[in-house]
Amino acid sequence: MIRVENLKKSFDGKNVLHDISFTVEEGEVVCVIGASGSGKSTMLRCLNYLEQKDSGTIEISGSVIEGRRAETELRQKVGMVFQHFHLFPHKTVLENVIEAPVHVLGRKKDEAVAEAMVLLEKVGMKEKADDYPASLSGGQQQRAAIARALAMKPDVMLFDEPTSALDPELVGEVLETMKQLAAEGMTMMIVTHEMNFAREVSDRMMLLHEGRIVEDRPSKELFSSPREEATKAFLRRVL
Ligand code: ATP
Ligand code: MG
Repeated sequence: MIRVENLKKSFDGKNVLHDISFTVEEGEVVCVIGASGSGKSTMLRCLNYLEQKDSGTIEISGSVIEGRRAETELRQKVGMVFQHFHLFPHKTVLENVIEAPVHVLGRKKDEAVAEAMVLLEKVGMKEKADDYPASLSGGQQQRAAIARALAMKPDVMLFDEPTSALDPELVGEVLETMKQLAAEGMTMMIVTHEMNFAREVSDRMMLLHEGRIVEDRPSKELFSSPREEATKAFLRRVL
């Protein structure tokens, strides 16, 4: 579960997130949409401490995360997948997946390997465990990145335009992996322009406009009867 209350963030005196509050329940899938620059990435990045919020409360699975352990705790509880996969290029897929469990959580290597192989099988990447990122397709790299995020056993997963950098024919395999994760009950927030996926998989959709959530409703409703002008304009552009 994610609960955010009065989240604010500015860069160089310019407010980028004004006063963001929302809850994502356990097992819920929420897609975040909005124009370029509306604050989608900044909002997700504050949730796993890639950006430090100015103020506001972040609660994950019932604990408010604050103070000097916030960074470590958020990194552990909140998995994140980016547009560009950020895999370590000099490590194999398997080494990428076990990196954080071994070096951050202090897990034994053989246990981490066993768990990583289960995750790689889940994302259809078991056969590629010993390959290096450069030899993989974008879709394979992204599925490896998803396995790597899952290896920390996060409570929630955030995706920031996970398919935007992929060739069109590779988008489906990544969306399929995410869909499977959603079906297994993972709590997820996904910034995406894949409107069919959003309509089919997400419970709710949230529209960010100039750093504010202007609409947050069940996905089917938002598509069939958008209320806000910003939502209508956004849907006109992407549909
Ligand atoms: P896009 O759809 O293009 O990815 P977005 O909705 O993810 O856009 P953000 O990347 O969150 O938007 O950016 C929101 C605003 O914050 C923009 O005006 C951006 O220029 C600004 N911003 C983001 N990161 C920084 C930073 N590190 N320093 C200064 N300004 C930033
Ligand atoms: Mg962004």
